[in-house]
Amino acid sequence: MTAPGDGRATVGVDIGGTKTRAAVVGPTGEVLASATAPTPAGGVAMLDVAAGLVERAVATAGVRVTAVGVGAAGVVDPAAGRVLAASDSFVDWVGTDLRGGLVDRTALPVTVANDVDAFLVGEATWGAVRGVRSAAGIALGTGVGGALWLDGALYRGAGAAGEIGHMPGFGDAVCTCGQRGHLETLASGRSVERRYAEAMAGAAVGAAEIEALARAGEPVAARVLAEAGHAVGSAVLVVAALLDVGHVVVGGGLAGAWDLLEPALLARLREAPPVSGHPVEVRRAALGADATVVGAAALAR
Ligand SMILES: [Zn+2]
Repeated sequence: MTAPGDGRATVGVDIGGTKTRAAVVGPTGEVLASATAPTPAGGVAMLDVAAGLVERAVATAGVRVTAVGVGAAGVVDPAAGRVLAASDSFVDWVGTDLRGGLVDRTALPVTVANDVDAFLVGEATWGAVRGVRSAAGIALGTGVGGALWLDGALYRGAGAAGEIGHMPGFGDAVCTCGQRGHLETLASGRSVERRYAEAMAGAAVGAAEIEALARAGEPVAARVLAEAGHAVGSAVLVVAALLDVGHVVVGGGLAGAWDLLEPALLARLREAPPVSGHPVEVRRAALGADATVVGAAALAR
């Protein structure tokens, strides 16, 4: 008996700060089955959960799979298959042999990457920048991540290329990394919450609610989100000046506020168009929450 994708499907795994998800992805990018669980604390437990989710997703899909691709939070060495750095919310994760641990548990070939790299591979293979020769990816999540797709391949540099969230020149607020004025201090979900709270005498309001307030015409919420969009526009201009990429894809949870970010972002691009004269097109991510698992599955192919 054969099923769609049988023998041509791969598994993508997204290991994030709060949850881990595995999805069986068919040859044209379709998710055939998936399984999700909270990310536990500790490298060994994280590998056990990830391998268990792979097994569950494969059993549900009922197809043979050829390989596993992983997009993991933090800096990942794709050659050694190890986690080099991660935020301190990940307990006992740095140094974990991600590839070896999953090869042992799944008996499949395993490819590993950073989660934002996987997001961009997903969008470049089956999403908003499909078929585009070169593009940058910006993920506006709890923090701000970035990745580069140059001449049809992921560009990693020494491992952390495209880390656009920690680019300086964006004011003087203290960043999660301890330095000041990074893009992340204006354009992450957490910074939107912090800036709104500062403007509203400490009101603790979540990013989703700030978006709703902005849509209802509340001016402080609208301003904080417009400033995030403006900052992303400035970052896009830096990327375009440096690499002359024609496309930038923006994803992550805060991209759900695209209608509120985009006007300020586009205004910034009009204000200071790239000196090359080459227009840079900014697109919202098309694969939504699936981008990282689907991209990880594409990397495994
Ligand atoms: Zn920083």
